[in-house]
Amino acid sequence: MDWSGRVALVTGAGSGIGRATAEGFAQVGARVAVVDRDEDAGRATLEAIGAAGGEAIYIAADVADEQSVAAAVAETVRRFGRLDAAHNNAGISPDTGTTVDCTRVLWDQIFAVNVTGVWLCMKYEIEAMRASGGGAIVNTGSVSSLRAAPQLPAYVASKHALIGLTKVTALEYAAENIRVNIVCPGVIETPMLMKKAAEGFFSVDDYVQSSVPMARAGQPEEIASAVIWACSDSASYLTGATLSVDGGMVIA
Ligand code: NAP
Repeated sequence: MDWSGRVALVTGAGSGIGRATAEGFAQVGARVAVVDRDEDAGRATLEAIGAAGGEAIYIAADVADEQSVAAAVAETVRRFGRLDAAHNNAGISPDTGTTVDCTRVLWDQIFAVNVTGVWLCMKYEIEAMRASGGGAIVNTGSVSSLRAAPQLPAYVASKHALIGLTKVTALEYAAENIRVNIVCPGVIETPMLMKKAAEGFFSVDDYVQSSVPMARAGQPEEIASAVIWACSDSASYLTGATLSVDGGMVIA
């Protein structure tokens, strides 16, 4: 895979899955816009890419804020001249409790980042991709895009919504050479997962043994490689697809 001359933007690129995708895109030669609201984390990804000989910029942005997203895409095009691929990956999963216990504030926060954030990113990325003659977008869903989990009403609803949004956008821009797909990770060892485990939400080992047919957690790089493939010319006929990368979790 040779991405030299091409440009990728990754949100939530300061940590976990987004960081692995940003580093993966840089490894295959893309110039990468590392977008994250956490500046220290974003700059750490930037340094790792630079140390490995890749080319990247860090852009501080909150995907839930329209001006911030518009500025991030504009800055990417200003610095790199084009946009070919985007991984809309920033997401949150704060503890909400059940449908009854979930507060309106938490519900709105989760939807603002997980759904509105992805929509806003696509809104501005598609304009930039049109100007570049086409492109490919991958949104990050979850196994929670495809099935229920107790105590996660807003997260599960937000991730289900992303499948619908991905399909609509794929349909709308298919004829303009812009492909849009969603990758649905299972249990992936990232700071988000480890934080939830540390808070006593679940034990990763128990969760994996009871839910994952491959009987292990996934690594962020295993999601990144699916994302980069889905954005690549090797996936040139793939659009509107929901790709589970979960060690068999959703089929169990
Ligand atoms: P992570 O380690 O928490 O990384 C997410 C990054 O996104 C963090 O740097 C976070 O910054 C940033 N971010 C959050 N909200 C943002 C916003 N509004 N604007 C810009 N940046 C923002 O999470 P992860 O586990 O890699 O998860 C990445 C994606 O995969 C999420 O969409 C998640 O729902 C999905 N996913 C994860 C798993 C899993 O097992 N890990 C499974 C299924 C799906 P802060 O630290 O400031 O929040």
